[in-house]
Amino acid sequence: MVIAKARAVDGPDKSFREAEIERRDLDQHDVLIEIKYAGICHSDIHTAHGDWGEVKYPLVPGHEIAGIVTEVGSGVTKYKAGDRVGVGCMVDSCGECKNCHDGEEQYCLKGNVPTYAGVDKYGEPTQGGYSTHIVVTEDFVLRIPDNIELDAAAPLLCAGITTYSPLNHWNAGPGKKVAVVGMGGLGHMAVKIAHAMGAEVSVLSRTLNKKEDGLEFGAEAYYATTEPETFEKLAGTFDLIINTVSAKIDISAYLSLLTLDGAMVNVGAPAEPLEVNVFSLIGHRRSFAGSMIGGIHETQEMLDFCGEHGIVPKIEVISADYIDEAYERVLNSDVKYRFVIDTSTI
Ligand code: NAP
Ligand code: ZN
Repeated sequence: MVIAKARAVDGPDKSFREAEIERRDLDQHDVLIEIKYAGICHSDIHTAHGDWGEVKYPLVPGHEIAGIVTEVGSGVTKYKAGDRVGVGCMVDSCGECKNCHDGEEQYCLKGNVPTYAGVDKYGEPTQGGYSTHIVVTEDFVLRIPDNIELDAAAPLLCAGITTYSPLNHWNAGPGKKVAVVGMGGLGHMAVKIAHAMGAEVSVLSRTLNKKEDGLEFGAEAYYATTEPETFEKLAGTFDLIINTVSAKIDISAYLSLLTLDGAMVNVGAPAEPLEVNVFSLIGHRRSFAGSMIGGIHETQEMLDFCGEHGIVPKIEVISADYIDEAYERVLNSDVKYRFVIDTSTI
């Protein structure tokens, strides 16, 4: 057993504190990873604050993990000590249901095992990446391309795959007009990835404050959603809209920006229900859909795609003592564009 150092939180209004957590002895197929960097996803904040319902504390969040393999179980074939690897939002699934067979482990019919705030197959609570080590079964470990630094790789494991998967599924590519709503951690990755896929990308942000960055990431246009003319001007424009916003927004207003047969996909996960005026759907056979991370095979495909296209998130590396302040800044949308914890400071 490895005793890992970690940062844990004890309740919705509590600050992060130093902690020690046990990582299980390696099973035949387990990989021990020394975590080097862990991204801060807005989902960590929703979970730590109990936005999505009760969670068990102490909680160690973190599902954007990048590190180095230090030891492998006797039956491991895919990885060896020294390999550069990542772990995303899930660490296991049943492996037997239809969805697992189809490579959609995130939609495992028995429920995937989330990297933190879940329960593993031994009945133990899972604890995430704000820590120095983690043990994960080899099938849920990803390989990081050589040309991506570990600190920049970390956010790809959630922000990267969560945007790559719907862009891929809804065929973003040449000839397609894609809009990204909200340019935070997920949003800025959506812009870069959709652009690399060949789509014509627009950003719909509340203000024009981040316009220069958006254009640099690959957007061709950038609009402020607080300006009512934006919605008049862009009515019926987009084939695909990816909504990354962490709060409730007026979905029907955005649906009106879709073309005939266009789709708006929600990856943002606010706790409050979103209202939809069905007339904004039925008038032009539009769809309103959702998408959750991506499967393991697709996550590797995304990492390789980012390696080939030189796509990395724009990050701010922080020390573990800064987590509380980083959470505040994410809640104030004051992040460009992902905080990544240097776990050597834990
Ligand atoms: P983030 O960095 O905080 O970005 C969210 C963006 O939403 C902000 O940058 C902001 O963009 C916009 N926004 C925030 N509050 C808003 C408000 N009140 N009204 C309008 N726009 C607002 O968060 P993130 O890490 O990208 O995560 C975004 C959401 O996706 C979270 O809800 C998270 O839990 C969820 N998520 C879902 C999945 C999944 O599998 N589906 C995976 C990861 C995360 P502008 O400043 O440009 O307006
Ligand atoms: Zn996440």
